[in-house]
Amino acid sequence: MAKRDYYEVLGVPKGAPADEIKKAYRKLAIKYHPDKNQGNAEAEEKFKEGTEAYEVLSDPKKKQAYDQFGFAGVEGMNGGGGHDYTNVYRDFEDIFGDFGGIFDSFFGGGGRRSGRSSQPRGSDLRYNLNIPFKDAVFGTKVQISYNRHVACSSCNGSGAESGGGRKMCPTCGGSGQVRRSSGFFSIASACPTCNGDGYVIENPCRICRGTGVTQKSQKIKVTIPPGIESGKRINIPGQGNASPNGGLTGDLYVYITVEPHKYFERDGADIYCVIPVTMTQAALGSELMITTLDGRKAKLKIPGGTQNDKILRLRGEGIPYLHNAGKRGDMYIKIRVNIPTKMSGKIKNLLKEIADLEGAKSNPDPIPLSELR
Ligand SMILES: [Zn+2]
Ligand SMILES: [Zn+2]
Repeated sequence: MAKRDYYEVLGVPKGAPADEIKKAYRKLAIKYHPDKNQGNAEAEEKFKEGTEAYEVLSDPKKKQAYDQFGFAGVEGMNGGGGHDYTNVYRDFEDIFGDFGGIFDSFFGGGGRRSGRSSQPRGSDLRYNLNIPFKDAVFGTKVQISYNRHVACSSCNGSGAESGGGRKMCPTCGGSGQVRRSSGFFSIASACPTCNGDGYVIENPCRICRGTGVTQKSQKIKVTIPPGIESGKRINIPGQGNASPNGGLTGDLYVYITVEPHKYFERDGADIYCVIPVTMTQAALGSELMITTLDGRKAKLKIPGGTQNDKILRLRGEGIPYLHNAGKRGDMYIKIRVNIPTKMSGKIKNLLKEIADLEGAKSNPDPIPLSELR
């Protein structure tokens, strides 16, 4: 079918002024709007034809080329075919309000809102990072390496060989969807030719095969703040996948898992450990040297008469607060009184002597529960 003259399509005289062209398109677009003409293939054709005509005639440069050279003049401007509906989209919004969905479904990517921010964002990436307990406590820098999509350097992310452009997908006519009938139903699915984009690259870039992105292995240094806990994530903006359509790049999320420590357990900013003492240390009292998280030695006073499971505290020897690294939690030390199992004869005799002196009861009463709390 021969293409109709753009002026004829819009029903305006050659050389009509811009506002008259816009008015004519407005009338046509309202009349053949796909929402009002569902299932009407002729209306759909008219709507597309009118929009293409308006796309050219509303752009002063293209209009001039069309006036001078006809269709051939305009085709050259789009890199050998295809139409860029970005400008029309703006007027379309003027006419219909926010009807982006309809427009997108007819004209695919070319009809999307102008400006990079409205393009679909590249996807976010997740990296799982295990860090030693001590690094979580004091913070560290870790180098990680991972693969991400970056804009193809050969085609600058366009997906097209130099000079090539996009054209409406021939399979779905730009809707990004194909329909097939199943009994009474008509089922829509993403178009297999264009993957739902609505347009195809005419001459795909050989490096990225038209996707606009290539895989790149990347190394970056991640700063782990002091006090971080398992399950927390660190957001690194702009280090995820590049958008295949020139939109914003996604983010990288580093998910932290803190490896367990041999001695210390954590509860928020506090740490817990268990220290053994002998019967006599517990009974007579003593002073111990305890190794702290920092690796320093701290003095811990065991009072005389310390019972098993008694919990002592070293202030400020815990974990730095995540958002206030100047402040630290405490270190709690649970005392375990070791009852001797193997004894020399001498110790045994001494203990017997103590037992005689103690005069322990053979029928003790239970300890009141209130004393155990
Ligand atoms: Zn490429
Ligand atoms: Zn398609």
